Amino acid sequence: MIRINCPICGTRDESEFTYGGDATVRRPAMEEDAPGPWLDYVFMRDNPRGPHREFWHHVQGCRQWLVLDRNTLTHEIGTCFLARDAA
Ligand SMILES: [Zn+2]
Repeated sequence: MIRINCPICGTRDESEFTYGGDATVRRPAMEEDAPGPWLDYVFMRDNPRGPHREFWHHVQGCRQWLVLDRNTLTHEIGTCFLARDAA
């Protein structure tokens, strides 16, 4: 069981959250008209073994989007903060 320390609600079980994807992916500029950057943005993802920065949504809590560092090998949770503070 993964326990996530939500900055608003405190430590909660993983079952209250929904995984939201890779938090390292950046959307191309809207003016980008080459297909390559959009293909990478929409479809191409790494499958890292080890540290990974991810989006999680606290669906059954404060409903905030979080950015957290999780080790995909050990499920150890590192830094966790509100996604709105990431910009
Ligand atoms: Zn929360």
